[in-house]
Amino acid sequence: MQNLVAIVGRPNVGKSTLFNRLTQSRQAIVTETAGTTRDRQYGKVIWGGQEFSLVDTGGWVVNSDDIMEDEINKQVRIAIEEADVILFVVDVMHGLTDLDEGVAQMLRKSGKPVVVISNKSDNFELGHQSAEFYSLGLGDPFSISAINGSGTGDLLDHILTLFTKDNTEEELDDVPKFAVVGRPNAGKSSMVNALVGEDRSIVTDIAGTTRDAINMRYNKFGMDFYLIDTAGIRKKGKVTEDLEYFSVIRSIRMIENADVCILMLDATRGIESQDLNIFSLIQKNRKGLVVFVNKWDTVEEKDNIVIKTFENAIRERLAPFTDFPIIFGSALTKQRILKVMDTAKEVYQNKKRKVPTSKLNEVMLPIIERTPPPSNKGKFIKVKYITQLANTQVPSFVFFCNLPQWVKEPYKRFVENRMRENWNFSGTPINIFFREK
Ligand code: GDP
Ligand code: GDP
Repeated sequence: MQNLVAIVGRPNVGKSTLFNRLTQSRQAIVTETAGTTRDRQYGKVIWGGQEFSLVDTGGWVVNSDDIMEDEINKQVRIAIEEADVILFVVDVMHGLTDLDEGVAQMLRKSGKPVVVISNKSDNFELGHQSAEFYSLGLGDPFSISAINGSGTGDLLDHILTLFTKDNTEEELDDVPKFAVVGRPNAGKSSMVNALVGEDRSIVTDIAGTTRDAINMRYNKFGMDFYLIDTAGIRKKGKVTEDLEYFSVIRSIRMIENADVCILMLDATRGIESQDLNIFSLIQKNRKGLVVFVNKWDTVEEKDNIVIKTFENAIRERLAPFTDFPIIFGSALTKQRILKVMDTAKEVYQNKKRKVPTSKLNEVMLPIIERTPPPSNKGKFIKVKYITQLANTQVPSFVFFCNLPQWVKEPYKRFVENRMRENWNFSGTPINIFFREK
């Protein structure tokens, strides 16, 4: 279970600069795999051998100086609800403001671990002025400069000491963990109800490691599975859902906990930015995906052409990752509910798929021989041997070759597509690495 760190603070104090600074190292790793989307609100940080998630709560809203106090308070509230550690950024060049005091008051009451960050401490003198932030009553301020990076190492060290959660992934058993995710009103509750609602045939009830993600184990539809449920435990509307990114932040834990996410889309609305944000969370966490186009009962024309058009539109929006199942149905009338579960299970199996080394080489080496990576400065890249790595979150393949640094993204994508044609990896990300033998 990963720790979640949230950045809060009024506009222009440097939240997004800090977010970029802290997620930088990770981005380099993430972009190695084709198809991962990036956004500036949610990312992973690796420090001291630990990985944690970072959200910039300000990143989802328009940042302007006249942003309302009310809006900032909502951001702080969602951070208090969702995060394990809160980074409260203030601006030493600007000094303490009333807005800062207001935020500090909420944070003091929350009892959550908070780090006050005195940003823009670009030099020693400014660092000295950070002392004024002691008065916020949230402990020692950390003087950093998000722009030049000074102080961020100490800050990261300190953040790690505040984690109470063990960040190793608990592999309970070989039972798949599913999560139903989507924006408000997509039909998530209706879906969970249709799946396990009336007949709560719960096998065991394992309280998740945190207060908010609970894995319920079921035996239904001829299979054994966990359904990660947060909606059921936390009352709706505790924090108003009028800001659309709330539902995205809320999805983080569910997605991090799941093996396969069932992403609910609303057939009457198509894909909007919030759907894309949730999709991006699923991708960043390298989880399995089944797209369920819900409320299909309300669509009048349902011939094959309509379905194809719909499907293509979805894949286009989610490109370049397009190899995932799309199911059209209705949580309300229970149309295709069984199909969703069967498909989610299949995706889980695809995510666990092991390809025997001999088969891998037998199939892929001739393909690579026919269409080798483009040569560079007259040098040719030769792939000698392919193997699948053991114990990885998603199927990961290493192509041993000379000059791996010259193998570019398009060729990796070509290889990935051939892999997907030869084995069923529908719904799961895969990793393709080129390495020197
Ligand atoms: P946000 O609205 O809180 O996300 O703030 P931004 O990250 O967009 O930063 C607001 C402005 O402050 C930008 O012009 C940044 O370049 C600047 N800024 C951010 N961090 C620092 C810093 O450490 N030192 C200085 N001098 N400027 C900074
Ligand atoms: P959530 O906010 O994602 O949990 O969405 P809900 O399950 O609460 O559903 C939002 C609204 O959409 C409710 O009024 C549901 O009755 C309706 N709804 C959900 N699924 C379907 C469906 O398959 N067909 C139709 N027509 N309405 C649905």
